Amino acid sequence: METTYDLIIVGSGPAGMTAAIYASRANIKTVILEAGAPGGKMLKTMEIENWPGVTHGISPQIAYEMHKHSTAFGAEFKMGEVAKVSIDVESGMKKVLLTSGETLTAPAVIIATGTKERPLPLPNAEKLTGRGISYCAICDGAFFRNKHVMVIGGGNSAVDEAIHLAKTSAKVTIVHRRDEFRADQISLNRAEAIENIEIMRSFVAEEILEENNKVAGVVLRNVKTDELVTLEDVEGVFVYVGVDPITEMVVELGVTNEWGYVLVDENMETKIPGLYAAGDVIEKKIRQVVTAVNDGAIAAERVKHQLT
Ligand code: NAP
Repeated sequence: METTYDLIIVGSGPAGMTAAIYASRANIKTVILEAGAPGGKMLKTMEIENWPGVTHGISPQIAYEMHKHSTAFGAEFKMGEVAKVSIDVESGMKKVLLTSGETLTAPAVIIATGTKERPLPLPNAEKLTGRGISYCAICDGAFFRNKHVMVIGGGNSAVDEAIHLAKTSAKVTIVHRRDEFRADQISLNRAEAIENIEIMRSFVAEEILEENNKVAGVVLRNVKTDELVTLEDVEGVFVYVGVDPITEMVVELGVTNEWGYVLVDENMETKIPGLYAAGDVIEKKIRQVVTAVNDGAIAAERVKHQLT
């Protein structure tokens, strides 16, 4: 079965949802596809302080409002995981094949799939995921109320989520492999001022200890001295060691760079006419809600231009 639209948006994070608002307000027949829940990374963080007009925003609530807004002007929201995007060379039409076997077609497609969390590169990390290892503090933080948890990473996600965890956990130890943090200074200053946050610089997790198939401590190694330190009372490990783009569905089209990010021009268009990308999935420097929303608006405006 094939259904035809004017525009297919893959992914309903802030970039995809903004593109849906702009496109549907322009009477473009739009479908927005989502494999999980609408909101993207906004569902994985509690607070947002750099969304203009909302000084202290509750991130999932903003995501929910964006989702309602994204379908308010006629865009269709559809659950479905995309397996492959292909191009009909003669007509230029894009085919979007879902893992369910369904195919959608449209002259324009916006890839707004964002990124997925990079796994902790330790042998038992996969096995212990959901058993003490987590990639989402907002989802799993409550399981570690009044316990000692560890956050691994030195970027914005690690520091922001450590601050969130410190509200309910007895102690949060941030472990970062360097002395300098990648995270914004304002967040780092805030974390440093919180009494139950300890920061261990130039340490890496060497081994996750386990007992009864659950995390039961972490062995850390100082990268400068090779000194080993065991924190036996750590029961939760939150991993924020970076992200990778979700672009498997377009890799064969040759529109991605060596790290998998989609290459676009200033109109968010790839080298294939009618194939666009927006948000965290594109090659760029600043990945935030504000910049994702910007990309989504530009991509939809360009689609409007393409279709008229
Ligand atoms: P990130 O900025 O890439 O940071 C990943 C961190 O993990 C880095 O500090 C990195 O260390 C460390 N790391 C990487 N591999 C490691 C390993 N094998 N072992 C230990 N540590 C390792 O990733 P992110 O924090 O998930 O953020 C992703 C993007 O979203 C970024 O562009 C970020 O700015 C953005 N974001 C923005 C906000 C905000 O605006 N408030 C919030 C969250 C995320 P090195 O520093 O040594 O490389």
